[in-house]
Amino acid sequence: MGFSLELAPQLRRQMAALNAITAHRLESGNRVSTRGANVIFWDVDTQIDFLLPGGRLYVPGAEKIIPNLHELTAWAGAHCIPIISSACAHLPGDPEMRTYGPHCVAGTPGQQKIPETLLPNRLVVPNRRVELPDLRSFLQVIVEKQAFDSFTNPNTEQVLQQFGNDLSIVMYGVTTDICVACAADALLDRGRHVQLVSNAVAALDEKKAASFLDSFRKRGGMLVRTRNVLRETSAA
Ligand SMILES: [Zn+2]
Repeated sequence: MGFSLELAPQLRRQMAALNAITAHRLESGNRVSTRGANVIFWDVDTQIDFLLPGGRLYVPGAEKIIPNLHELTAWAGAHCIPIISSACAHLPGDPEMRTYGPHCVAGTPGQQKIPETLLPNRLVVPNRRVELPDLRSFLQVIVEKQAFDSFTNPNTEQVLQQFGNDLSIVMYGVTTDICVACAADALLDRGRHVQLVSNAVAALDEKKAASFLDSFRKRGGMLVRTRNVLRETSAA
């Protein structure tokens, strides 16, 4: 992983045009709403340690959402929808490790994202202030973090800003009750429009997940399903 090559300007213009077309199509669906905004996907912590049996913080049953994660990722790649992915990249001594035990330790296989949620043209943004390139050159931006909240990475605010203010954010990943909840709340706090793909998330604690989903809906968040995202945009 690392910095990918920049795309040629012509390809970037094509991607921007395709994204505009896709956003328009999304708007015409009655379940997936974009309010005329550009669509981005927000992929939360879809890493080996959480998703695969034998992972260090395996979420029971999480492997069942992998086909949907794969479809969403492939669809984004095919339609030039940018994906912002958060990824735990822990170091020994991170406070989270005391509560949940070691997981997603930087440099271990378990920290890797599952291949089903990776696009070839991606950039990894480490958890220290860096100068960001023009992110429109990438289909996937992976933001590393050492705490639940993606915005603890000092670059995340700017990453989001680069994709614009008027965005429709389609979110999925793990875990519904912890890092998905944290990311959704952080985006709602910033006045962002968030739709959660209900069959592409998995929880460690179903009760906490249900109470988050309740508050998410009350705050204006919407629930969609993978097939809505794909069906309502497949003609794009
Ligand atoms: Zn973590």
